[in-house]
Amino acid sequence: MSARNKAVSAYEAHVQEGVLLNANESPTNFDEQILTEIKASLDTTLFHRYPDDSYRSLKEAYAQVVGVEPDMVLCGNGSDQMLGLLIGCAMAEGKTLATLAPDFGMYDYYVSMYGGTIKKYPIAAGKPLDMDAFVAFAKDADMVLFSNPNNPTGNLVSGADIEKLLQTIRHVPVVIDEAYMEFADESVVGLLDQYPNLFVTRTLSKAYGAAGIRLGFLLSRAENIQKLGALNVPYNVSRTTQTIGEILLRHAATFAGRVEQICRQRERFAELAPSLRRFTLYPSHANFVLVEGEGLDDLLAAFKARNIVVREYAGKPYCRITIGSVAENDQVLEIIRKVDESDA
Ligand code: PMP
Repeated sequence: MSARNKAVSAYEAHVQEGVLLNANESPTNFDEQILTEIKASLDTTLFHRYPDDSYRSLKEAYAQVVGVEPDMVLCGNGSDQMLGLLIGCAMAEGKTLATLAPDFGMYDYYVSMYGGTIKKYPIAAGKPLDMDAFVAFAKDADMVLFSNPNNPTGNLVSGADIEKLLQTIRHVPVVIDEAYMEFADESVVGLLDQYPNLFVTRTLSKAYGAAGIRLGFLLSRAENIQKLGALNVPYNVSRTTQTIGEILLRHAATFAGRVEQICRQRERFAELAPSLRRFTLYPSHANFVLVEGEGLDDLLAAFKARNIVVREYAGKPYCRITIGSVAENDQVLEIIRKVDESDA
């Protein structure tokens, strides 16, 4: 498989038809008011000019939303690009990155691209991470990185446990990928001042439903951001994306409301879980759920028959389903219930 194909399969976001519950996107576009503001903001007079490469006002807007200083923010073409930058700085032949299994597939892609080795500590959906064991596992690595909440299990590691990790691992970067943090509300951004080796990546792709504009952030202490900024690709965030990003951040409260709606929909999955016989539907702290069971092939066939696209994992007995609109969730829950009731 080429590196490019590997990267695409890590996302599986290239499918464009059907009920798309495979890439943890928002089920709906921005509302009319935001769309009107975006259209009005489009400056058609400056397409021939490079954008502002300091990203000053975008950094200020994001810093205000998350409660840090603007010089603690780096802007990326998706948080994915920020992860690539961090991994690229720490990995080379002979260097090792410690992560979890399963976790976000792009970590493998970047580590192998830079010639490093990835080692993975196995976790189980619905079970807490044994942080002492993970610290022992990770302590000789050159970088520690995992997503929290975890993609694809939906597990959440507490801030207190991450602090335990940071108290032991002090000399190599510890990166917490908080792509889904808003759905769990348990961030380690508050620890940045205390731990100079802590890096946090965030995105507007999930809670802000803005996967199409490609805007992510890296947060760390100002001296780290200054160093990484010098290594970052110039003009990596377009003028249009910067403008739209600032508009979306002005509407942070609207998006917080949408996150609440998704979390309420997630409750419907949690309510169904105990009644299932053939499947385990794991509790989740993100905008997706993981379903596992012997009858997975039947379930996948039933989704396909209704043109519902979910995230499959080759050779694994589970699939990941993005929490969609009310109507989409109605369909998904009914299919899970029916397949569960049918005889194997
Ligand atoms: N981290 C995790 C855990 C993800 O699941 C994703 C996207 N699916 C990303 C990072 C990258 O998101 P983006 O580049 O859209 O910000």
